[in-house]
Amino acid sequence: MELNKRQQKIIEIVKDHGPITGEQIADQLDLTRATLRPDLAILTMAGYLDARPRVGYFYTGKTGSQLLTEKIKKIKVAEFTSMPVVVQDSATVYEAICTMFLEDVGTLFIINKNGHLAGVASRKDLLRASMGKQEINSIPINIIMTRMPNITYCFKEDYLLDIAHILIGKQIDGLPVVKRSTNDSGLEVVGRITKTNITKAFVELAHDELL
Ligand code: ADP
Repeated sequence: MELNKRQQKIIEIVKDHGPITGEQIADQLDLTRATLRPDLAILTMAGYLDARPRVGYFYTGKTGSQLLTEKIKKIKVAEFTSMPVVVQDSATVYEAICTMFLEDVGTLFIINKNGHLAGVASRKDLLRASMGKQEINSIPINIIMTRMPNITYCFKEDYLLDIAHILIGKQIDGLPVVKRSTNDSGLEVVGRITKTNITKAFVELAHDELL
Protein backbone atom coordinates (compact mmCIF):
# COMPACT_ATOMS: atom_id res chain seq x y z
CA MET A 1 0.00 0.00 0.00
CA GLU A 2 1.35 3.39 -1.03
CA LEU A 3 1.08 5.78 1.95
CA ASN A 4 0.49 9.47 1.34
CA LYS A 5 2.64 12.19 2.94
CA ARG A 6 0.21 12.80 5.79
CA GLN A 7 -0.05 9.10 6.61
CA GLN A 8 3.76 8.81 6.64
CA LYS A 9 3.94 11.83 8.96
CA ILE A 10 1.36 10.23 11.29
CA ILE A 11 3.45 7.06 11.47
CA GLU A 12 6.55 9.12 12.34
CA ILE A 13 4.65 10.94 15.12
CA VAL A 14 3.28 7.70 16.57
CA LYS A 15 6.72 6.04 16.33
CA ASP A 16 8.28 8.89 18.32
CA HIS A 17 5.49 9.66 20.78
CA GLY A 18 3.23 6.62 20.98
CA PRO A 19 1.04 5.71 22.69
CA ILE A 20 -0.59 8.94 21.65
CA THR A 21 -4.24 9.96 21.24
CA GLY A 22 -5.81 11.03 17.94
CA GLU A 23 -6.32 14.47 19.45
CA GLN A 24 -2.61 14.83 20.23
CA ILE A 25 -1.61 13.69 16.72
CA ALA A 26 -4.03 16.22 15.25
CA ASP A 27 -2.50 18.98 17.41
CA GLN A 28 0.99 18.18 16.18
CA LEU A 29 -0.19 18.41 12.56
CA ASP A 30 -2.33 21.50 13.12
CA LEU A 31 -5.37 19.62 11.89
CA THR A 32 -8.67 18.64 13.43
CA ARG A 33 -9.27 15.14 14.79
CA ALA A 34 -12.09 14.73 12.22
CA THR A 35 -9.73 15.46 9.30
CA LEU A 36 -7.34 12.78 10.53
CA ARG A 37 -9.97 10.14 11.15
CA PRO A 38 -9.84 8.49 7.66
CA ASP A 39 -6.02 8.33 7.70
CA LEU A 40 -5.97 6.80 11.17
CA ALA A 41 -8.59 4.27 10.08
CA ILE A 42 -6.51 3.28 7.02
CA LEU A 43 -3.28 2.96 9.02
CA THR A 44 -5.00 0.87 11.67
CA MET A 45 -6.76 -1.37 9.15
CA ALA A 46 -3.56 -1.87 7.18
CA GLY A 47 -1.78 -2.89 10.39
CA TYR A 48 0.81 -0.10 10.66
CA LEU A 49 -0.82 1.28 13.82
CA ASP A 50 -2.79 -0.30 16.60
CA ALA A 51 -5.26 1.52 18.82
CA ARG A 52 -6.17 0.76 22.44
CA PRO A 53 -9.14 2.41 24.10
CA ARG A 54 -8.08 5.03 26.67
CA VAL A 55 -4.42 4.53 25.72
CA GLY A 56 -4.16 5.75 22.16
CA TYR A 57 -2.32 4.78 18.99
CA PHE A 58 0.96 2.93 18.94
CA TYR A 59 3.25 1.74 16.18
CA THR A 60 3.18 -2.01 15.45
CA GLY A 61 6.69 -1.99 14.03
CA LYS A 62 5.63 -3.93 10.94
CA THR A 63 6.93 -2.99 7.50
CA GLY A 64 4.77 -2.98 4.36
CA SER A 65 6.21 -6.29 3.17
CA GLN A 66 5.68 -7.95 6.57
CA LEU A 67 2.05 -6.84 6.48
CA LEU A 68 1.65 -8.12 2.91
CA THR A 69 3.14 -11.49 3.89
CA GLU A 70 0.73 -11.71 6.84
CA LYS A 71 -2.15 -10.96 4.50
CA ILE A 72 -1.08 -13.64 1.98
CA LYS A 73 -0.72 -16.25 4.73
CA LYS A 74 -4.28 -15.59 5.92
CA ILE A 75 -6.05 -16.20 2.57
CA LYS A 76 -8.23 -19.31 2.73
CA VAL A 77 -9.20 -21.63 -0.14
CA ALA A 78 -12.89 -20.64 0.35
CA GLU A 79 -12.20 -17.08 -0.82
CA PHE A 80 -10.94 -18.15 -4.26
CA THR A 81 -12.49 -21.53 -5.03
CA SER A 82 -14.31 -22.13 -8.36
CA MET A 83 -17.18 -24.44 -9.23
CA PRO A 84 -16.02 -28.04 -9.71
CA VAL A 85 -16.68 -29.88 -12.96
CA VAL A 86 -17.46 -33.52 -12.24
CA VAL A 87 -18.03 -36.59 -14.39
CA GLN A 88 -19.50 -39.94 -13.35
CA ASP A 89 -17.00 -42.82 -13.25
CA SER A 90 -19.22 -44.71 -15.69
CA ALA A 91 -18.76 -42.02 -18.39
CA THR A 92 -16.60 -42.82 -21.40
CA VAL A 93 -13.34 -41.07 -22.24
CA TYR A 94 -15.17 -39.47 -25.20
CA GLU A 95 -17.83 -38.01 -22.87
CA ALA A 96 -15.12 -36.73 -20.53
CA ILE A 97 -13.37 -34.99 -23.43
CA CYS A 98 -16.67 -33.35 -24.46
CA THR A 99 -17.23 -32.14 -20.88
CA MET A 100 -13.72 -30.74 -20.66
CA PHE A 101 -14.30 -28.73 -23.86
CA LEU A 102 -17.82 -27.58 -23.01
CA GLU A 103 -16.98 -26.56 -19.43
CA ASP A 104 -13.65 -25.04 -20.42
CA VAL A 105 -11.60 -26.59 -17.61
CA GLY A 106 -8.28 -28.41 -17.57
CA THR A 107 -9.06 -30.93 -14.84
CA LEU A 108 -12.14 -33.09 -14.34
CA PHE A 109 -13.10 -34.68 -11.05
CA ILE A 110 -14.61 -38.14 -11.27
CA ILE A 111 -17.30 -39.22 -8.83
CA ASN A 112 -18.71 -42.67 -8.08
CA LYS A 113 -22.38 -43.62 -7.93
CA ASN A 114 -22.59 -42.34 -4.33
CA GLY A 115 -21.43 -38.92 -5.49
CA HIS A 116 -18.03 -39.31 -3.78
CA LEU A 117 -14.64 -38.37 -5.19
CA ALA A 118 -13.19 -41.33 -7.08
CA GLY A 119 -10.53 -39.79 -9.34
CA VAL A 120 -9.06 -36.98 -11.40
CA ALA A 121 -8.54 -36.73 -15.16
CA SER A 122 -6.27 -34.06 -16.62
CA ARG A 123 -5.87 -32.89 -20.23
CA LYS A 124 -2.86 -35.13 -20.72
CA ASP A 125 -4.65 -38.17 -19.27
CA LEU A 126 -7.35 -37.72 -21.95
CA LEU A 127 -4.82 -37.05 -24.73
CA ARG A 128 -2.88 -40.17 -23.75
CA ALA A 129 -6.06 -42.27 -23.84
CA SER A 130 -6.90 -40.84 -27.29
CA MET A 131 -3.48 -41.70 -28.71
CA GLY A 132 -3.86 -45.45 -28.13
CA LYS A 133 -5.53 -47.93 -30.40
CA GLN A 134 -8.53 -48.29 -28.12
CA GLU A 135 -11.89 -46.79 -29.01
CA ILE A 136 -12.49 -43.74 -26.77
CA ASN A 137 -16.22 -44.32 -27.06
CA SER A 138 -15.90 -47.59 -25.22
CA ILE A 139 -13.16 -46.97 -22.60
CA PRO A 140 -14.65 -45.84 -19.27
CA ILE A 141 -12.96 -42.82 -17.68
CA ASN A 142 -12.28 -44.78 -14.49
CA ILE A 143 -9.77 -46.96 -16.38
CA ILE A 144 -7.52 -44.03 -17.25
CA MET A 145 -8.07 -41.58 -14.36
CA THR A 146 -5.73 -41.08 -11.41
CA ARG A 147 -7.69 -42.71 -8.61
CA MET A 148 -8.27 -42.55 -4.90
CA PRO A 149 -6.41 -42.90 -2.55
CA ASN A 150 -3.79 -41.17 -4.73
CA ILE A 151 -5.78 -37.95 -5.12
CA THR A 152 -4.51 -34.82 -3.41
CA TYR A 153 -7.45 -32.76 -2.19
CA CYS A 154 -8.06 -29.84 0.12
CA PHE A 155 -10.73 -28.27 2.32
CA LYS A 156 -12.29 -24.79 2.20
CA GLU A 157 -10.61 -23.90 5.48
CA ASP A 158 -7.09 -24.63 4.17
CA TYR A 159 -4.69 -21.81 3.43
CA LEU A 160 -4.21 -20.87 -0.22
CA LEU A 161 -0.45 -20.54 0.24
CA ASP A 162 -0.23 -24.19 1.37
CA ILE A 163 -2.16 -25.23 -1.75
CA ALA A 164 0.22 -23.21 -3.96
CA HIS A 165 3.14 -25.14 -2.40
CA ILE A 166 1.36 -28.47 -3.05
CA LEU A 167 0.63 -27.62 -6.71
CA ILE A 168 4.28 -26.71 -7.28
CA GLY A 169 5.63 -29.68 -5.32
CA LYS A 170 3.41 -32.27 -7.03
CA GLN A 171 3.50 -30.56 -10.44
CA ILE A 172 -0.26 -30.61 -10.90
CA ASP A 173 -2.67 -27.92 -12.07
CA GLY A 174 -5.39 -28.14 -9.47
CA LEU A 175 -7.02 -29.81 -6.49
CA PRO A 176 -10.60 -30.74 -5.71
CA VAL A 177 -11.99 -28.89 -2.70
CA VAL A 178 -13.91 -31.46 -0.66
CA LYS A 179 -16.00 -31.94 2.43
CA ARG A 180 -16.53 -35.17 4.32
CA SER A 181 -19.92 -36.71 3.61
CA THR A 182 -22.35 -36.75 6.54
CA ASN A 183 -21.84 -40.44 7.32
CA ASP A 184 -18.09 -40.12 6.65
CA SER A 185 -18.21 -42.72 3.87
CA GLY A 186 -16.46 -40.55 1.30
CA LEU A 187 -15.57 -37.07 0.11
CA GLU A 188 -18.00 -34.76 -1.66
CA VAL A 189 -16.48 -32.40 -4.22
CA VAL A 190 -17.55 -28.83 -3.40
CA GLY A 191 -15.02 -26.78 -5.35
CA ARG A 192 -11.94 -26.57 -7.49
CA ILE A 193 -8.74 -24.71 -6.86
CA THR A 194 -6.24 -24.33 -9.70
CA LYS A 195 -3.21 -22.28 -10.64
CA THR A 196 -5.67 -19.81 -12.22
CA ASN A 197 -7.37 -19.17 -8.86
CA ILE A 198 -3.98 -18.56 -7.30
CA THR A 199 -3.10 -16.13 -10.11
CA LYS A 200 -6.39 -14.31 -9.40
CA ALA A 201 -5.49 -14.04 -5.71
CA PHE A 202 -2.10 -12.62 -6.70
CA VAL A 203 -3.70 -9.98 -8.95
CA GLU A 204 -6.28 -9.07 -6.30
CA LEU A 205 -3.57 -8.56 -3.70
CA ALA A 206 -1.70 -6.22 -6.04
CA HIS A 207 -4.95 -4.36 -6.73
CA ASP A 208 -5.66 -3.96 -2.98
CA GLU A 209 -2.19 -2.52 -2.56
CA LEU A 210 -2.95 0.20 -5.10
CA LEU A 211 -6.17 1.32 -3.43
P1 ADP B 1 -1.65 -32.18 -17.32
O1 ADP B 1 -0.91 -33.47 -17.15
O2 ADP B 1 -2.79 -32.29 -18.26
O3 ADP B 1 -0.76 -31.00 -17.62
P2 ADP B 1 -1.69 -32.06 -14.42
O4 ADP B 1 -0.28 -31.59 -14.40
O5 ADP B 1 -2.67 -31.41 -13.49
O6 ADP B 1 -2.30 -31.86 -15.87
O7 ADP B 1 -1.75 -33.62 -14.15
C1 ADP B 1 -0.62 -34.45 -14.15
C2 ADP B 1 -1.02 -35.85 -13.65
O8 ADP B 1 -1.40 -35.73 -12.27
C3 ADP B 1 -2.24 -36.44 -14.38
O9 ADP B 1 -2.02 -37.80 -14.60
C4 ADP B 1 -3.41 -36.23 -13.41
O10 ADP B 1 -4.37 -37.26 -13.47
C5 ADP B 1 -2.73 -36.20 -12.08
N1 ADP B 1 -3.39 -35.26 -11.15
C6 ADP B 1 -3.90 -34.06 -11.45
N2 ADP B 1 -4.45 -33.47 -10.35
C7 ADP B 1 -4.28 -34.36 -9.34
C8 ADP B 1 -4.65 -34.37 -7.94
N3 ADP B 1 -5.27 -33.35 -7.37
N4 ADP B 1 -4.31 -35.45 -7.21
C9 ADP B 1 -3.66 -36.50 -7.77
N5 ADP B 1 -3.30 -36.55 -9.07
C10 ADP B 1 -3.61 -35.50 -9.84
